[in-house]
Order: sequence, then C-alpha cells, then structure tokens
Amino acid sequence: MTMTKIAVIGSGTMGRGVAYVAALNGFTVSLHDINKESLKDAEKYIYDEWKKSEQQGFITKEDMEKGKSSLTFSLDMKDCVEDADLVIEAVLEIMDVKIKVFKELDQLCPPHTILATNTSTMSPTEIGAQISRPDKVIAMHFFNPVHKMKLIEVIKGLDTSEETIEYVKDIGKQMKKETVEVNEFPGFITSRMNCLIGNEAMNMLMEGVASAEDIDKSIKLGLNHPMGPLQLADLVGLDTRLRNMEYLYQTLGEKYRPCPLLTKYVKAGKLGVKTGSGFFNYKN
Ligand code: NAD
Repeated sequence: MTMTKIAVIGSGTMGRGVAYVAALNGFTVSLHDINKESLKDAEKYIYDEWKKSEQQGFITKEDMEKGKSSLTFSLDMKDCVEDADLVIEAVLEIMDVKIKVFKELDQLCPPHTILATNTSTMSPTEIGAQISRPDKVIAMHFFNPVHKMKLIEVIKGLDTSEETIEYVKDIGKQMKKETVEVNEFPGFITSRMNCLIGNEAMNMLMEGVASAEDIDKSIKLGLNHPMGPLQLADLVGLDTRLRNMEYLYQTLGEKYRPCPLLTKYVKAGKLGVKTGSGFFNYKN
C-alpha cells in the first residue's frame, strides 16, 4: 500500500508543527521553505521536540525513528510537491503571497492533489478562484502548538467539493485531531473570537487598566482560560496576529481595529516567543 504523501509549505511556527504531527502519524512528509535558516531551525526544533517527547514517555524511540525516516526537508518546491497527495500551505498571512504559492502549486502538483491553506482568517474561495482546481482548495486551520492542540477547523470555499471536505477530515482523524466544518466567513469561528479577546486585552494594557501579568492572571483564574490572551498572542507571533487583525478589520469592520500597542510592538521587532520578547520576556 502506498503511503499518503503530505507536502508542507512554509517551515515557520505552524509549518514545522504540522510536519511534526503528520510524520509521527504515518504520513510521508516533505517540508519546504524558501528560507534556508527557517528550514534548518525547523529541523532542529522537530528533532529536539521528538527527543523530549520520547524522554517524557509520550512517544517511543521507534515512533521517533519512523518519524525521522518519513520526513524530508527541501528548499526546492517542485521536489517537495510533485508526488504529493495533499499540500498544506503555512506561509505568511498575506493574500498575495498565498495566491502566488497556490499558482505555483497548481502547476507543479499532480491533478489529484488537494491544496489546503492553514490561514487563520482568509478566504479559500479567493485562493481557489485563482487556480484551475477550486474544487480541491480548502482551509485546514491547525492550532499552535500543533502537537498539543486537538482541533482542526475545516473551512470550505464556495467551490470546494464534498470529496475534498471528507478527504481532509479523514486526514485530520489520522493525525488524531478533532475537526469542525465551517462555512467560509472571515476569521472562521476561532480567530474571529480569539482576535477580539486578545485585542481587548491589549487595549486594557494600553489604557493602564492593569499589568500584563494581572490581565492574563484574571482571564486564566477568573474565566478559566488555560492561557492568558497576551501570552497567547506572544505564542502566535505578534506580526502574524497584526496581519490577522488587519484582515478582520478590512472585512468585518471597526470592532477589529488593531490595538495601536500591537502595531508598536511589531514595529519594535518584539514579535513574542519567536524573537524572545513581546508582552512578556522569554529570554533567560
Ligand atoms: P511564520 O512567520 O512563523 O512562518 C512563515 C514561514 O513561511 C517562514 O518560514 C517563511 O520563510 C516562509 N515563507 C514565506 N514565503 C514563502 C514562500 N513563498 N514559499 C515558502 N515558504 C515561504 O508564520 P506562522 O505563524 O507559521 O503562520 C503561517 C500561517 O499559519 C499563516 O497563514 C498564519 O495566519 C497561520 N496560523 C498561525 C498560527 C500561529 O499561532 N502562529 C496559528 C494558526 C494558523
């Protein structure tokens, strides 16, 4: 029996997480990025995380070795996708960048390949309309960190076929995730809600209502969220969160106007966990 091959495009915060989970769950996986540093960093991250999981007893040594043998890294997109059954795109949250990638994928992938985007907010319909196979375009919205978070939001565009929906739901199940089916609308279910909560927390911090620590502590202990909204924004990446807010502001209006404090942190290069500081400090 041939194994399903998944190609992941973009090896940043999310792409590396999706590759990690897919390789551990029996798929042949190829991870591509245009940035050599990001790809090297992703390789180190995945191997280090597998080692930690093995030491903590979450996976066996055999799982780890099998994962390693089914995962490759490539700077060459053609090499990565030409025999893929499913491509999961996780590049920047910028529509023009995504469309450019999907046009390339449309040329390079076999006709049967399903093309999924891991966008947090954007329209699979808009992406599908630019290429020759809109019926095979869908959004698979994974959560960060992918190996810990149970959900994939499956978002169908206007022309996404039932076969494509069922196919990606089955892939999600094989990755041991739960799925929910969402009709396309900006921000889907989770980002639409989460961006508002995070933005309100940032507005409160800007207004001097409380410290970052106490805002997060209130939401965790008072509202029973597992993580505070400022810590979560740091984990997502403040640049990514700002792009999400800007898109939702454009499409859904005033209530999504990005907090000026978020813009200020991004301008300062304080992007959260990935740069070592954001609303909190992650440098030792
Ligand atoms: P990131 O900035 O961490 O990584 C993006 C990666 O894409 C970088 O390594 C970059 O080099 C690469 N890239 C850029 N252009 C490329 C191209 N043309 N071809 C190949 N690689 C390219 O971003 P991220 O946080 O991983 O976000 C990726 C996507 O996932 C976005 O659409 C985002 O909204 C979504 N998302 C993010 C989170 C999160 O918590 N960060 C959660 C769910 C969904």
